[in-house]
Amino acid sequence: MSGDNSETIAFPYQHHVVVDKLPRSEMGWKKRNISRVRLIAWHRCNVAEDPKDIAQWFIDNKKWVGHPYHFQINLDSHGEAIVYQTALLVERTAGLFGWNNRGIHIMIHGDFRYQQPERKLFHAAACLAADLRGFNIGDRCGGHSEASYWLPKKYWTKKSCPGKSFYTEACRRIVSRLLIGNETGLTVLPVGESWWQTR
Ligand SMILES: [Zn+2]
Repeated sequence: MSGDNSETIAFPYQHHVVVDKLPRSEMGWKKRNISRVRLIAWHRCNVAEDPKDIAQWFIDNKKWVGHPYHFQINLDSHGEAIVYQTALLVERTAGLFGWNNRGIHIMIHGDFRYQQPERKLFHAAACLAADLRGFNIGDRCGGHSEASYWLPKKYWTKKSCPGKSFYTEACRRIVSRLLIGNETGLTVLPVGESWWQTR
């Protein structure tokens, strides 16, 4: 055991900015005023696994510009969480009708209607939300479906997203504890630091 006194900081996820590597239509997403962002929304998606294939699926099947979420979380082949940034934060993507001007969209790979997310996926979803606190969102995080009900009725969705087995209440509690430095075993970025691209 001697000779190795370096302590591994258990950063909860690997991260990569892949915005420029994804297919997208020429027109691009409209830009928005990032200071108006008020919500982090969690989503499910399993039409594909690779962010490139997910972007292409939405182009082909929805005729959308490209990847409709700002972040995508997967597990890698070792079961570790990996977060991709898939759209710039100034881009008004199509993640959630009614919240696209004011929401940051986090897609979690999988289908959580009947199956709970792996622990590391769940924790990465909470840690990423806490890392984004610089946007003054605090713990205003919610699942796609529940966030739609925070809006007038015309925005309500029938879609079950991220699904009832993704416990948004519990995820929000982890975010709250991370924000007050009261969560053990998980770490977040120091205040003011970021790895993602805003514009
Ligand atoms: Zn959704």
